Amino acid sequence: MPYDRPDTLPAALAILAREPRVVLAGGTDLYPATEAATLPGPILDIGALAGLDGIASTPEGLRIGALTPWSAIRDAALPPALDALRQAAAEVGGVQIQNAGTIGGNLCNASPAADGVPPLLALDAEVELVSAAGTRRLPLSRFLIGPRRTARRSDELLAAILVPAAAILGRSVFLKLGARRYLAIEITR
Ligand SMILES: Cc1cc2nc3c(=O)[nH]c(=O)nc-3n(C[C@H](O)[C@H](O)[C@H](O)COP(=O)(O)OP(=O)(O)OC[C@H]3O[C@@H](n4cnc5c(N)ncnc54)[C@H](O)[C@@H]3O)c2cc1C
Repeated sequence: MPYDRPDTLPAALAILAREPRVVLAGGTDLYPATEAATLPGPILDIGALAGLDGIASTPEGLRIGALTPWSAIRDAALPPALDALRQAAAEVGGVQIQNAGTIGGNLCNASPAADGVPPLLALDAEVELVSAAGTRRLPLSRFLIGPRRTARRSDELLAAILVPAAAILGRSVFLKLGARRYLAIEITR
């Protein structure tokens, strides 16, 4: 079974242009979802890709790399408008999950209980999708098209989440409704 772990984005996109792959980031959604000893399908491990993590301030707002782990978001010095996202980051599983799980994986997994989604929808966030053919942006509200379904094409990677400057002016708070205090899956309706 093919397994590739490229360290540059062009190399990863060239692989996806040739054939669809199971994209592996932190693996914290993918591994629990399989009951087999190994992940199904040919794997594209994006964990070593340079330049896809970290939070940067740009003239347009904030750019959050898709590979940014929850622990980095939890601990980042961000404007009050992103308090909800930081508080959500601190509620994603436990510390180990926050160290391994990425914001991009949370969005691409498109679980109705994904803690990253409500704070980012409230911020009018966009996603940046890249492929060998180019780059496109979509509002997060159009990227998520249903439970476990996104508008991502099989030749695309989610590269970044973009928070517009206008959305950074407000304040926000995240309150999680769960069945227990720790390691709770959010109750959705
Ligand atoms: C014990 C435990 C507790 C958890 N608790 C919570 C919780 O409280 N709240 C919550 O929201 N989630 C929770 N999760 C789920 C998970 O940790 C998060 O959704 C995490 O952000 C997933 O990121 P990942 O990098 O591990 O994704 P992965 O498992 O690597 O990937 C998830 C999906 O996204 C795709 N993908 C990943 N990155 C990209 C990319 N850049 N471009 C294209 N496709 C991509 C993968 O192909 C896969 O379909 C929990 C998981 C576990 C195991």
